[in-house]
Amino acid sequence: VTEGPGAADSEALATLHRVFGYEAFRGEQEAIIEHVVAGGDALVLMPTGGGKSLCYQIPALVRPGTGVVISPLIALMQDQVDALRALGVRAGFINSTQDFDERRLVEAEFLSGELDLLYLAPERLRLDSSLDLLSRGKISVFAIDEAHCVSQWGHDFRPDYLSLSLLGERWPDVPRIALTATATRATHEEITRRLNLPTARHFVASFDRPNIQYRIVPKADPKKQLLAFLRQEHAGDAGIVYCLSRNSVERTAEFLTANGIEAVPYHAGLDAGTRAAHQSRFLREDGLIVVATIAFGMGIDKPDVRFVAHLDLPKSIEGYYQETGRAGRDGLASTAWMAYGLNDVIQQRKLIQSGEGDEAFRRRASAHLDSMLALCETAQCRRGQLLAYFGQDPDPAGCGNCDTCVTPPETWDGTVAAQKVLSTVVRLQRERGQKFGAVQIVDILLGKRTGKVIQFDHDQLSVFGIGTDLGEAEWRGVIRQLLAQGLLAVEGEYGTLVLTEASGSVLRQEREVPLRKEPEKPAVARSRSAG
Ligand code: ADP
Ligand code: ZN
Repeated sequence: VTEGPGAADSEALATLHRVFGYEAFRGEQEAIIEHVVAGGDALVLMPTGGGKSLCYQIPALVRPGTGVVISPLIALMQDQVDALRALGVRAGFINSTQDFDERRLVEAEFLSGELDLLYLAPERLRLDSSLDLLSRGKISVFAIDEAHCVSQWGHDFRPDYLSLSLLGERWPDVPRIALTATATRATHEEITRRLNLPTARHFVASFDRPNIQYRIVPKADPKKQLLAFLRQEHAGDAGIVYCLSRNSVERTAEFLTANGIEAVPYHAGLDAGTRAAHQSRFLREDGLIVVATIAFGMGIDKPDVRFVAHLDLPKSIEGYYQETGRAGRDGLASTAWMAYGLNDVIQQRKLIQSGEGDEAFRRRASAHLDSMLALCETAQCRRGQLLAYFGQDPDPAGCGNCDTCVTPPETWDGTVAAQKVLSTVVRLQRERGQKFGAVQIVDILLGKRTGKVIQFDHDQLSVFGIGTDLGEAEWRGVIRQLLAQGLLAVEGEYGTLVLTEASGSVLRQEREVPLRKEPEKPAVARSRSAG
């Protein structure tokens, strides 16, 4: 506990003790709170679990007036307010889930100065009635939570956030604090610009989560791999398993349950009652697993989540970091485990091409996916890649607590293998005017006379059977890595393989193609303890 220099400072510390019952501030909390209590604007970049809430809650309690918190997480407002009320903080919220009378009550409390904190959904600020309400009360601080939602480049863009710049114009004397857990340097700049916070002080906490061990394994039979992982390393532990589709969420939860592991599904297709019940079981019980789409987890504060598993590839590193960041908030050793394979790459590329959005949107989505693929395929320290992505300098010696550090992957010269794949794609296209997906390409390389190979006379191609030196899984690994390296591309709704501009240099033997060896059995010992 440090000696506070100013009155505001010691009042902040007293509030931390009295209201929240904590001994001391963590990391940058003290500096942030002091700055905001003194009336300064702030941009706070802190990973999930870092303790962002206190950074605006304490200023709201110390400064006169009500702290107004803009948050997109409507579903959590009730819980947040209940938790604060249990501590004796006078908190309320206004959102679309309330009826007229409930809202009126909160409005009256705000106007008569009886609220310390008022949570608002961003869409409220589009309404003149809300702005009018705010201007009739006294505001101590504006907190803009999940501030990355203002970024059109980000993965969570919410148009309503763009209107938040008006807060500074209408209330120039009220300090504003914007907070986010995911931000690259480009996003920081976008947040400061779009929220009009040019003089805000930036507080950037480290994004490293040393107690989380990162591992990405090649996908073979994902449900079985998951089961083995859970049995060997996380028996009886609480954790989250992320899947892309509702269907695979359901099937995975059933599979785990059938194998004696307690797991409940969570996705947007379940009714609200079931979702709430599963979420509260997860928070309350020990050792329950939630199998979920990314609809689950935002704002969930469970300290002892021991693992986060991904059975499908996230769309971006931001998403991956945020989802894995739900593990190990208590600082104890935890695992971020992911199974990733060729179909993930093809599926995600197809989704981008067939999805909504204009050309610029597709380009951004592709760039996000490329960074994610680079993380999956790297032979370097995964933590180092993650930190570099978030603009931090990684330890050049590696972290010692990720799969690539524990078992450095071997690389091999895949130039000839790459040429074989690319020539097969070229032959099909030039000689036959045909495009095929990965399954057919691999069958041709392996010289398999399948029904579809016979049907298209592909056993007559000169490349038929030129790849018997490798097995099927290895060829799929080669194709996956070529896709990740941009030496091959996916096209159309069937996910056919086509060449890229860069493919030519491989076919003309102008460049080498180093590839990662697929580990037979990716074994990583249980990690060292928390850092
Ligand atoms: P974030 O919003 O950054 O994800 P939270 O504000 O929810 O993180 O805080 C994460 C957890 O850490 C919460 O359980 C919170 O009560 C706890 N916490 C935050 N600050 C402190 C502190 N100074 N001392 C002890 N616990 C803290
Ligand atoms: Zn590492």
